[in-house]
Amino acid sequence: MSPTQSQIVISTPAVLDQAGERLRAGRLVAFATETVYGLGANALDPAAVAAVFELKGRPLYDPLIVHVASLALARSLTTDWSELAEKLARRFWPGPLTLVLPRHADVPDLVTAGLPNVALRWPAHPVAQALIQAANRPIAAPSANRFASISPTSAADVAAELSDPELWILDGGRCTHGLESTVVSLVGPHPVVLRLGSLAVEELEQELGPLTVATRSVRASDLQQGLASPGNLSRHYAPRTPLTCLTLQELEHLSEDTTQHSGLLCFAAQVPPAQAARFAQVENLSPDGDLRQAAARVYAALRELDRVGLQRLVALRLPDVGLGRAINDRLQRASTP
Ligand code: AMP
Ligand code: MG
Repeated sequence: MSPTQSQIVISTPAVLDQAGERLRAGRLVAFATETVYGLGANALDPAAVAAVFELKGRPLYDPLIVHVASLALARSLTTDWSELAEKLARRFWPGPLTLVLPRHADVPDLVTAGLPNVALRWPAHPVAQALIQAANRPIAAPSANRFASISPTSAADVAAELSDPELWILDGGRCTHGLESTVVSLVGPHPVVLRLGSLAVEELEQELGPLTVATRSVRASDLQQGLASPGNLSRHYAPRTPLTCLTLQELEHLSEDTTQHSGLLCFAAQVPPAQAARFAQVENLSPDGDLRQAAARVYAALRELDRVGLQRLVALRLPDVGLGRAINDRLQRASTP
């Protein structure tokens, strides 16, 4: 390991204790969650939270999700833990659902980017839970990547993104979900989905009935009212190689000259073998057509294709249902305008 690299550490009980200590002392710790790896700081310590923004190169208008490991801790961070919040938390926590609620005054401005609301999540991954318990603090944690780059789904991905010899990365294996959490705002008269993610909208709708999905608008007034999510910037999650989303018909019209220097990201049996064979490299997110498997693989596949040094990446949209919607949302944002 080169001396400038972050340190990947095995999450033993002793390491978790020390990591909790580091967080209480205002230092950062990267850790596994079931969605993507997070870069954590004590959410109640503004200086520690500032260090997260700095290390990521993240703009201060993009607020952080605060991670908890109990309902009691979640309740202590909002002034309005509604019946609906209780119902959703009991149904989906621990898990890949983030709830936006009116913030408690204890939550620093930096965490919420000055918004009157705070985003809360209780992650399911045992490493994340053990770390929050060891720290005995709420943990503010965005994805552990440089701003606007691809979210990390393994400890090695984090090490490739963030070089800081002081930074521990608590290894918890590959993320089982592989896409960020689904963000739902509960601050308005009706729940609104602010970000598509690892919990399919259909699953939420089974609890709540038909939902408004507002993942496009990023007006400041919408942010204030909890009607939009700052994370919905149009370009986000992007590889360095230019990426375009195409239909199968468009793909078939690409010249040999283009395809032989291009990578292809596809799903199931979308692309006939003869077409796929024209590309320099092909990543099929799930040959069996399993959307969960595709979600878990999409970021790793983008990283893989990005590493090859191709001229161009081409992606086909997945079926626009369940997790396919969230994956399409990420592919769209990762694509070059
Ligand atoms: P990341 O942790 O990188 O996945 O990004 C966290 C995302 O959660 C932000 O970009 C927002 O989309 C959302 N979020 C966090 N806090 C709030 C908030 N107070 N209001 C609305 N959305 C939020
Ligand atoms: Mg992120």
